[in-house]
Amino acid sequence: MHKQTLFLKDEAALLDTARALADGVKAHEEELAESGLTIYLLGELGAGKTTFSRGFIQQLGHQGHVKSPTYTLVESYELEPWQINHFDLYRLADPEELEFMGIRDYLGTHRIILAEWPQRGKGYLPQPDIIITIDYADTARSITLEALTERGRELLDTM
Ligand code: ADP
Ligand code: MG
Repeated sequence: MHKQTLFLKDEAALLDTARALADGVKAHEEELAESGLTIYLLGELGAGKTTFSRGFIQQLGHQGHVKSPTYTLVESYELEPWQINHFDLYRLADPEELEFMGIRDYLGTHRIILAEWPQRGKGYLPQPDIIITIDYADTARSITLEALTERGRELLDTM
């Protein structure tokens, strides 16, 4: 399937979806690690992009807190065989700033890019394998997962 929309009644359901995606990554770890993986997270402020990232990153083995990269632009996690680079580009004034921060070191093999506000880094971030869009209504959410590459499609098929 290329695109699916799920209704999530609360934060726990959103975290479950994030964990299911991380489990898919684990199941395809060998193939995926070679190429790396890029996931864009779209949605308004407060929609749950960072919450989703927390569920995903913790399911891949991170034990501690997942800090929002709002001020630092990126937070990195070393979780063998992955380096997860969680971006929040909301405060990026110019995509070129990514060049100055050494964006290239954050991309490539064995890297998972999770990017909030990827539109603001246009031209510097890799094309996404999966785009996740979160829409909200009070404490419920709807989430759309769309695969844009074969890799992304295989991953969503595991969910
Ligand atoms: P974003 O990164 O998209 O700006 P955050 O993940 O930082 O959003 O914040 C989402 C906020 O909404 C959190 O305070 C979270 O507790 C709350 N929330 C309430 N219901 C949900 C839900 N169903 N899914 C995700 N977050 C929810
Ligand atoms: Mg956020």
